[in-house]
Amino acid sequence: MTTTLYTDISSLVTNDVQLELGLLGELNDAAFIEQNGYIKWVGSAKEAPDADQRVSLEGKAVIPGFVDSHAHLLFAGDREKEFAARMNGEQYSSGGIMNTVRATRAATDEELDAGIADRAIEMYRSGITTFETKSGYGLTVQDEARSLAIAIEHTEDVTFLGAHVIPTEYKDNPDGYVDLVTGEMLEACLPVSKWIDVFCDEGAFDYDQSKAILEAGIAAGLQPRIHANQLTAGRGVELAVELGCASADHLTHVTAKDLELLAGSETVATLLPGAEFSTKSNYPDVQRFLTAGITVALATDCNPGSSYTTSMPFCIAVAVREMNFSIEQALWSATMGGARALRNQEIGAIAVGKTADFVVLNAPSYRHLAYRPGVDLVLETVISGTSIYRSNK
Ligand SMILES: [Zn+2]
Repeated sequence: MTTTLYTDISSLVTNDVQLELGLLGELNDAAFIEQNGYIKWVGSAKEAPDADQRVSLEGKAVIPGFVDSHAHLLFAGDREKEFAARMNGEQYSSGGIMNTVRATRAATDEELDAGIADRAIEMYRSGITTFETKSGYGLTVQDEARSLAIAIEHTEDVTFLGAHVIPTEYKDNPDGYVDLVTGEMLEACLPVSKWIDVFCDEGAFDYDQSKAILEAGIAAGLQPRIHANQLTAGRGVELAVELGCASADHLTHVTAKDLELLAGSETVATLLPGAEFSTKSNYPDVQRFLTAGITVALATDCNPGSSYTTSMPFCIAVAVREMNFSIEQALWSATMGGARALRNQEIGAIAVGKTADFVVLNAPSYRHLAYRPGVDLVLETVISGTSIYRSNK
């Protein structure tokens, strides 16, 4: 198989702890070799071995591809008016989800597929090389199953989120809806799902309902993750740790007890700055998590209601400015942190044996991701050694 040497890299973020070069394992004047979609060699440009092809990156920075471990890309319509009202002072509630549910139910398969395809392209343009996506805007057996069947054509990390909110038609019978989600709906969604998720919060599902839903998914062979503590400091984190969720996401409101539980667990804490930004909420302080020794991921939470962004650089910039992330920690959380949240050991680093997923930045170092907010710095996005997006700059 052809080997390709990428060289003349001013700053290469490897995320390789074995290099003992700090959190990011940053190498300067670096090079690496890709073969058959995997990283074969990493080191100093001067010491690079011969390869079949040679690509000079002309002094640009290279980082591992972003891993977006939390997104809702399968939906129809938008909620721009709701967003505008919030910016004028109205408060966010989970109820707006039903507006997207109505639009999604009314859309054709082709419309839903075109929507997720467009948003996937936006993600590649922002440097994301792996993304997870959830259902949760169908909320009928048929609409959840078809949403996931469309999603699986775009990513392997497909999450069944029938328990996003209780749909209007079950308003007076929430336990009936939980029965549907854990019964017929789960069965219909199982063949195309890897993960199961639940929105455990005020106005959505309580601790007991959430537990029943996740346990049904686990019993059927799905791996659990959870939306927890976005609107209130409820029992979401407790449940995440109890059930061994791969990730507990949002965590806008956490108690000292929650942090203690997470610190002693396998559960990654995934922070979603786009959600606080778009709902005008207070940002959680990441230092509370880091000093407790908790693994932290950053994700976009791309969805039409509370975080309609596909830009991981935007999330990094906000995380640094508003959540007390160092730039290094934010980048690590958006790459290796996401990989941990998806329990995928093949991605998140530019190190020997990892998948060759990387991003060339139009900048001398990764620091520009936060230093130049809102500026499109992605020159090229490569997945498994294949260029999937290249800027015409
Ligand atoms: Zn979400």
